[in-house]
Amino acid sequence: MSAYVSDLMARVRAKDPQQPEFHQAAEEVAESVAPLLEKKAEYRKRRILERIVEPERVVMFRVPWQDDKGDVHVNRGYRIEMNSAIGPYKGGLRFHPSVNLGILKFLAFEQVFKNALTTLPMGGGKGGSDFDPKGKSDDEVMRFCQSFMTELCRHIGPNTDVPAGDIGVGGREIGFLFGQYKRIRNEFTGTLTGKGFAWGGSYIRPEATGYGCVYFAAESLAHNKMSMEGKTCLVSGSGNVAQYTVEKLLQLGARPVTLSDSDGYIYDEKGIDNKKLEFVMDLKNNRRGRIKEYADKFKEAVFTRLDPGADQNPLWAHKADGAFPSATQNEINGKDAVNLVKAGVKFVSEGANMPSTPEAIHVFHESNVLFHPAKAANAGGVAVSGLEMSQNSMRYAWTREEVDSRLHGIMKNIHTACIEAAEKHGRKGNYVDGANIAGFMKVADAMLDQGLV
Ligand code: NAP
Repeated sequence: MSAYVSDLMARVRAKDPQQPEFHQAAEEVAESVAPLLEKKAEYRKRRILERIVEPERVVMFRVPWQDDKGDVHVNRGYRIEMNSAIGPYKGGLRFHPSVNLGILKFLAFEQVFKNALTTLPMGGGKGGSDFDPKGKSDDEVMRFCQSFMTELCRHIGPNTDVPAGDIGVGGREIGFLFGQYKRIRNEFTGTLTGKGFAWGGSYIRPEATGYGCVYFAAESLAHNKMSMEGKTCLVSGSGNVAQYTVEKLLQLGARPVTLSDSDGYIYDEKGIDNKKLEFVMDLKNNRRGRIKEYADKFKEAVFTRLDPGADQNPLWAHKADGAFPSATQNEINGKDAVNLVKAGVKFVSEGANMPSTPEAIHVFHESNVLFHPAKAANAGGVAVSGLEMSQNSMRYAWTREEVDSRLHGIMKNIHTACIEAAEKHGRKGNYVDGANIAGFMKVADAMLDQGLV
């Protein structure tokens, strides 16, 4: 790493020492763009990297709400408005007990470059709360969402900041959030994406992240003279991204064999087929049950409970050709990466945000595994959110096929942008550097054009 970048990273760490996930995300981008900063004096002179690691605005607020028994609870709400150089802030809301400022800053930071890669005019942001929707009734979730939006609505808007879903925020939560926004602001606009189709949503938005991740992997395989047909794939998580990753893998003739949640994972050697996926979608989206029930229902599958203290996850040790981590950050560590390589994995596509630790990424690169980082591979979700914004602005809806074909085209373009940027900057075949450099340059050049703001 250059002295310039290591000095900057030391200052970033010293300023917010309790934000390790943010440091990890920032350091990865800084390392990728260090040679570019050496070449482009203007980026250094105008302190682009220093400005890019500092959010434009952070909003933090109290979210009081009442449970069904009438007891009062207080959670913390956040919105990180990271960068608006190329469009309104855009990024999801996460409701999970682990949420804190550092995690949301890492997510908002990643979002800036991911959104730039989509070629759509969207800046980067992220938000959420340490509220845990698990085990709450629909009415409790509604009261929480209404309280959260009562404050958040002052800070967002269709031309300012457009949130969407993330972990713990799906169609149900977006509905409650949108309803409250509309009621307070007295306007029906595209302020949130991931809306229901009958009230301003886009076809393919629920599917977009998972589908996009598989499109990206298929593009990379084709680029390397391979195909998805017949590939055995490990998938983690069992939420929105995991479900539609499995659906698209099945459409392309692959064989997904695992799914997980925070309790453990199922391994189905026969493969998860469409009928079994339908069961998972009902289990997770309607009955809000646990993945263990898959193995109760389908006797050929085995459930393994996860040991939270273990230094590796046995999910990543099953024989396979590809892996789609689709649960959460840092779910693949260095040991897991070694296990994946031993298990025969040739490609890893990140559906989740930053699911691989830096040690794991190092193992993948050393072992010539095709490694597709989240910024590029899971950009399909926000890309279709961008298309939802366009449709809202036009007050018009494209067909399913139209949106899907645009999504497919965007994922192909992101793949090309990564490959070309990597090659141009002497990092041929390195998707991490390619994605970071291509995303960074677009935002950095817009910042230069707009002066010191
Ligand atoms: P989701 O529908 O809430 O599902 C999350 C899944 O991951 C659940 O199976 C959950 O299990 C598991 N999980 C969450 N936190 C975990 C933890 N700390 N340890 C173990 N398992 C955990 O969320 P999602 O929308 O699919 O998001 C999954 C990932 O994709 C996240 O990294 C998110 O940032 C990323 N992503 C999502 C989108 C999108 O459009 N939704 C777009 C880009 C990236 P439990 O139910 O047991 O918690």
